[in-house]
Amino acid sequence: MAKIEMKTPLVEMDGDEMTRIIWQMIKDDLICPFVDLKTEYFDLGLEYRNATDDQVTIESAEATKRLGVAVKCATITPNAARMSEYDLKQMWKSPNGTIRAMLDGTVFRTPIVVNCIEPCVRNWTKPITIARHAYGDVYKNTEMRVEGPGTVELVYTGADGSEKREVVFAFEGPGVVQGMHNLDASIESFARSCFEYALDTQQDLWFATKDTISKIYDHRFKDIFQEVFDRDYAERFAQAGIEYFYTLIDDAVARVMKADGGFIWACKNYDGDVMSDMVSSAFGSLAMMTSVLVSPSGVYEYEAAHGTVQRHYYKHLEGQVTSTNSVATIFAWSGALRKRGELDELPELVNFANQLEAATLGTIEDGEMTGDLARITTLENPKTLSTSDFIKAVAKRLAIALQ
Ligand code: NAP
Ligand code: MG
Repeated sequence: MAKIEMKTPLVEMDGDEMTRIIWQMIKDDLICPFVDLKTEYFDLGLEYRNATDDQVTIESAEATKRLGVAVKCATITPNAARMSEYDLKQMWKSPNGTIRAMLDGTVFRTPIVVNCIEPCVRNWTKPITIARHAYGDVYKNTEMRVEGPGTVELVYTGADGSEKREVVFAFEGPGVVQGMHNLDASIESFARSCFEYALDTQQDLWFATKDTISKIYDHRFKDIFQEVFDRDYAERFAQAGIEYFYTLIDDAVARVMKADGGFIWACKNYDGDVMSDMVSSAFGSLAMMTSVLVSPSGVYEYEAAHGTVQRHYYKHLEGQVTSTNSVATIFAWSGALRKRGELDELPELVNFANQLEAATLGTIEDGEMTGDLARITTLENPKTLSTSDFIKAVAKRLAIALQ
């Protein structure tokens, strides 16, 4: 069989630990046998980020702006333990944070539903999509340790030299302080991508913040969403028979637990980080979730929402057999290839992406899965496969489907 052709390369961002191992297996067994894969490769593994003073992360984001579609492997965000483990020059920032700050936009995360895994929340019969604002707030903060008594102020110096000051706190002893920001333009593009995605997928959109407590910061989010909605989307939503509403974050959490799913929940950056882990875990596993960053300029970065699965990696290094779930990473590849196929008008590539996803889900629904799913499936006698055997089982199915 001739391999499926690509036109424009994908931006390929390799990563760390167990997901780096899975990355190579997916390419070797699931993609390269069928697709004449074209990528621009960037090694975002921590060693190379350290060697390049993190320039490689910036270059990969610039390539994404240029080429339009990226696929990213999970990467280590260094902490104190990683400093010595990798002998780092510096505690480099989160690559996801750097890339999102450069691309702006919104991350959409949707559970990957299979018929043999029931969500912990019994009434969730349809997926819940989290739309996470990908710019600013605590991910682009400035923090300070306050050593002793003294006053901390927020100072704004206008381009014209004018000044605005606000006392944050008059400390009588040691403590901590944090400054963060967001931009009207970024919030507006967040709102637009959420409204567009809701129309695209015909689902209601919920948005929630804590504007009763954060009367200026969070309130600005609420106002911008409402202005954009009233001006540009109210009519289109009415025609589509879908709804937008705003509520407080704590009310939203309570309502989500009682809902049956099938809607988009727009969250500020931090809320989206935390809530997407909760929603995906409740739907079965962190590894059963798609994640895509959609920037206002129309570029896409597909990734898995989980981390580098460090504990499994150390087992792997000791020569033990692992059973790590590769579904989210497979769907990052299929999502990116499908989008590339759509943009380049390559129906065969789009079909390949669809078949890859169907083979993955079919393997699980026929009872072959990794340990995380075998523990929670409703199927009797599921077969627990190793990391590589699961990928090989998908490859076998895919080869038959593509014949
Ligand atoms: P993690 O890698 O998501 O793993 C946490 C636990 O969740 C694992 O120990 C495992 O549980 C389970 N798990 C996650 N993904 C799984 C999979 N694909 N298959 C089976 N089980 C899975 O999070 P972490 O251990 O907190 O973080 C490890 C590293 O990842 C950190 O350095 C962090 O900076 C980085 N990270 C990167 C990203 C990203 O790049 N997208 C996101 C989050 C974290 P059991 O051990 O119980 O089997
Ligand atoms: Mg997270």
